[in-house]
Amino acid sequence: MVFPDLGQAEAIILQTVDAAVLVDCGETDSGPAILRELRRRGIERLDLVVLTHPHADHTGGFPYLAERMPVGLLMDSGFPSESALQAKVMQTARRQGIPRRRAVAGQTIRVGDSLSLSVLWPERRHLTGTESDANNNSVVLMVRHGAVHILLTGDLQQEGEFALLRRSPDLRAEVLKVGHQGSADAAGTPFLSKVRPRWAVIVAGRGNSYGHPSARTVERLRSAGATVLCTGLEGEIEFESDGRTIRPFSERLAVPAASR
Ligand SMILES: [Zn+2]
Repeated sequence: MVFPDLGQAEAIILQTVDAAVLVDCGETDSGPAILRELRRRGIERLDLVVLTHPHADHTGGFPYLAERMPVGLLMDSGFPSESALQAKVMQTARRQGIPRRRAVAGQTIRVGDSLSLSVLWPERRHLTGTESDANNNSVVLMVRHGAVHILLTGDLQQEGEFALLRRSPDLRAEVLKVGHQGSADAAGTPFLSKVRPRWAVIVAGRGNSYGHPSARTVERLRSAGATVLCTGLEGEIEFESDGRTIRPFSERLAVPAASR
């Protein structure tokens, strides 16, 4: 699992011996960097692309990528967006003949021999009246690789977390991708007490003007027992799972090669 350093924009690569998945596609400018990253890892085809929600920092790179690499299936939250970018995303998927499916809680998708992705959120009837309904209806995925659990939350904020808690009591995961660039209203204590992550990953640009991640959020994550990793500090963050345990490795994290 790779979190490329794309500034504030987000994309997550899941790669196994026989499959590859991309969860979000960064912003429009991120397309070439993501494509390079995929090719560098020997990925020539994406079995699945998930767009967690229709904001430009998560979907922008999709048209560039989908025109240059085969995509087996596109899944998205179905949250409506009138933006020109969203129209381009949908038009590109149609033109490239990529089947599209709306992600609804309860679905599980197997990708290759060793990966399964369960959609935990959103429900068919979207949450409304929140600070950002687009964020709070993000596709939330529980990724399973053997016994390893990874929770990817898009830009879910606390209103979405509370709704998800009512629906899915079992949220335990070794790795949590923290919602919404680690802003103050992401990863609330009730949510963290259910997830109990060993590792928490925040995607946020170095020296960004939003003050992401919030110091309070980082403190909550640490109090919950997580080691916090942020792309703005570490650069690209990479994890390796053998199906029993998962651990980050990179030179900057100084995890000795022998213990990988
Ligand atoms: Zn967003």
